[in-house]
Amino acid sequence: MDRVFNFSPGPATLPLPVLERAQKELVSCGGHGMSVMEMSHRSKMYMEIIEAAEAELRELMGIPDNYKVLFMGGGATMQFSCVPINLKQNGKADYIVSGSFAKKASQEAAKFLDVNVVASSKDTNFNCIPDLANAKFDPDADYVHITTNNTIYGTRYTKLPEVGDVPLVADASSNILSEPMDVSRFGLLYAGAQKNIGIAGVTIVVIREDLIGRAAENTPVMLDYKTYADSESMYNTPPCYPIYIAKLVFDWLKEMGGVPAIQAINEMKANLLYDYLDNTSFYHATAKKADRSLMNVTFTLPEPAMDALFVKEAAENGLVNLKGHRSVGGIRASIYNAMPMEGVQKLVDFMADFEKRHG
Ligand SMILES: *Cc1c(COP(=O)(O)O)cnc(C)c1O
Repeated sequence: MDRVFNFSPGPATLPLPVLERAQKELVSCGGHGMSVMEMSHRSKMYMEIIEAAEAELRELMGIPDNYKVLFMGGGATMQFSCVPINLKQNGKADYIVSGSFAKKASQEAAKFLDVNVVASSKDTNFNCIPDLANAKFDPDADYVHITTNNTIYGTRYTKLPEVGDVPLVADASSNILSEPMDVSRFGLLYAGAQKNIGIAGVTIVVIREDLIGRAAENTPVMLDYKTYADSESMYNTPPCYPIYIAKLVFDWLKEMGGVPAIQAINEMKANLLYDYLDNTSFYHATAKKADRSLMNVTFTLPEPAMDALFVKEAAENGLVNLKGHRSVGGIRASIYNAMPMEGVQKLVDFMADFEKRHG
């Protein structure tokens, strides 16, 4: 069967070479006579996979030596709980609410400590990163939480907030590895895998070592970062296969030239779409220009009633999963690292044709 161009926000499209390699190695990986799914997680053959995954991620992101990489389960959403549980000291944290995942994170944290929402862009339906000019950060906060890319609304931080010595914590689920990030600016960052890393099942946590070991005595063992840090993420069976797929994606990304090279491609892809959107009055890009995401491009048609036809005709042209999130409507094209330029070009060609026929 021919593959389509899949603009899904997540789980999202994977690089074809990764799928082909996984297929080739499915029944017998590395001459071991068994699939990765069948290997003991403590076997030498599997240890090589998880160790390579970590080493490659460290290389790709330039992760400093005083940071640990943890492979956890539970999705990015489990981190909404883990972060406050593990970082609580003074019992208060600052949250910037730039979208519904940020809001969910703040609501979950409020179960465990006092949450101060220092800024929010809710009033404009999250079409921008909140203005931080008047944000009152608490110097005694245990951390400041941000969402570096807002998957549903198509916005991203182009500049990190200045938070002094307070650890900056980031949900980077939808833009990790899409552009260089200075890890040393963060106390902790986390990302579910199913957007830019691989497949659902593993969540990557990058945490500065001094922030580990602060959780209360009665913290459930699987929610405590120390459990993972002390056992190389092997306290129990890790998500073996999702970690293997992540390793294949890291191999692919290295072959593509690493994060700066993929950033250049991501900018070309996003600019192709935004330039088109800015030069037509038929479509309307919904995110504020200065905060536009490279990963999720959101726009509307002249009438919401046209959305369904657009999505249907696009799918007939092999361009699928373009429907915007139910909370914003319109159209969303998610163009993560694995979406080739060709897919974005085909989408723009389709949009021009659709406009000609319906404009
Ligand atoms: C997808 C997403 C989540 C939710 O991830 P799960 O792995 O489904 O828990 C959280 N935050 C952001 C920014 C996301 O894009």
